[in-house]
Amino acid sequence: MSRVILFILFFFILYYILSNFFTNILRPGKRMNQGSEVEELVQDPYCQTYIPKRSAVKKKIAGSMLYFCNQKCLTNYLKRNKKEG
Ligand SMILES: [Zn+2]
Repeated sequence: MSRVILFILFFFILYYILSNFFTNILRPGKRMNQGSEVEELVQDPYCQTYIPKRSAVKKKIAGSMLYFCNQKCLTNYLKRNKKEG
């Protein structure tokens, strides 16, 4: 009888190790695939908020690309720049 219990115990430990092993292997793989573009954050120069590059409002100003959290920030930023000269 004790052999059966040992076998079950062994099976559970094996299962536990294997499931941990596979989740550890699969996680970084997924990150690598979708990787840089999803998690890349850019700073809104107007309100200083960090937003994901993909959902940012892009605008090329004075030769450099700027990213805003929404259209309002872009408009306000342009207005402020005009006032300052
Ligand atoms: Zn903003």
